[in-house]
Amino acid sequence: MTNQLLRPSASTKNPGRPGAEARGAGAVVQFAGVVKEFGGHRALDGVDLTLHAGEFVALLGPSGCGKTTALRVLAGLESTDAGTITLDGRDVSQLPSSKRDMGMVFQSYSLFPHLSVGKNVEFGLRMRRIGAQERRNRAIEALERVGLGAHFDRYAHQLSGGQQQRVALARALVTEPRVLLLDEPLSALDAQVRVQLRDEIKRIQTELGITTLFVTHDQDEALAVADRVAVMKQGVIEQVGTPEELYARPATAFVASFVGQSNAIRGRVAHGTAEVYGIRLPLIDPSQDDGDCDVFVRPEDIQFSDAGIQGTISASSFHGSLRRSRILMADGQFIVVQHDVRLAPVIGETVHLSLHGNPVSVRAVTA
Ligand code: ATP
Repeated sequence: MTNQLLRPSASTKNPGRPGAEARGAGAVVQFAGVVKEFGGHRALDGVDLTLHAGEFVALLGPSGCGKTTALRVLAGLESTDAGTITLDGRDVSQLPSSKRDMGMVFQSYSLFPHLSVGKNVEFGLRMRRIGAQERRNRAIEALERVGLGAHFDRYAHQLSGGQQQRVALARALVTEPRVLLLDEPLSALDAQVRVQLRDEIKRIQTELGITTLFVTHDQDEALAVADRVAVMKQGVIEQVGTPEELYARPATAFVASFVGQSNAIRGRVAHGTAEVYGIRLPLIDPSQDDGDCDVFVRPEDIQFSDAGIQGTISASSFHGSLRRSRILMADGQFIVVQHDVRLAPVIGETVHLSLHGNPVSVRAVTA
């Protein structure tokens, strides 16, 4: 028998197409009003989220906001207190984990140390009583997909952290699940391996067209790989959008400050625009009430100029392809500017700044 999941699926070409329910195609996953309480604390406070067939969604948020709990209730590792979870429209909220057709990769490598790599990958197939020869063939195919075809007979302690996570990925995929759940799978790896494996997960996910929920607190990771990112805060999804939408049009002050770098500059909203240092900027949400506020301005939306608002360089750091400088303003606020590396400001130097007119989000300040 061939391993369909380990080949590109039809849904890859058309994620989100209706009726993508063939074996190996990604499922449509829907959370509707999902609540989960732990001893009176609401870890999930009415989560609504849809993952289209074959879509890669990152669940992004600060520590303790409920990301892992959302993933665990989807996997069936935790029960829900209210709401429903459906796969292709079928309510799976009461189904045991083993019946939900999902593969999982956790932060910790979680390989069985007493089993070889091959036996680890075969494990889910053995549970499903698949014959020995087919188990072996499918495990080899899964290992080849993650670049470890030659490592079948090794043991976990003979592998690097990145290799162990590849094996965990092969193990999650070998049973041809319709949903892949990734819970901070890159957190324990060093920076370079992280980026390599991140990109490889994305490549494999795209080839297979498997619906994927990727839990992370790392915005760079989420923005780099996800088709859409769901930003979570205190058990609620604040905004779902493509990385570009979230960055350019954050719906809330929390999203503006959590996704990407932002300066929160004290200003005012008046007559449908934001004003900072006498400069008027359009609002993302023009219905905002008048009053004092923090205005979120991206570092790349501020430039050095010959004239404009004045400040003094207090720090400057090199980031390879760009430089970030911190400017102390006359009112004591700091503004971070992102600029060309060839400009190397001197600490204490007086500079002038101008602001791009891109739409901004604001957070009302109460007296
Ligand atoms: P992190 O990024 O730190 O892993 P998270 O966003 O994944 O955080 P969760 O692990 O989902 O957050 O936890 C959400 C809230 O629920 C936290 O306040 C946590 O303490 C609480 N919580 C999670 N699991 C349990 C549990 N089994 N028993 C009691 N409280 C729990």
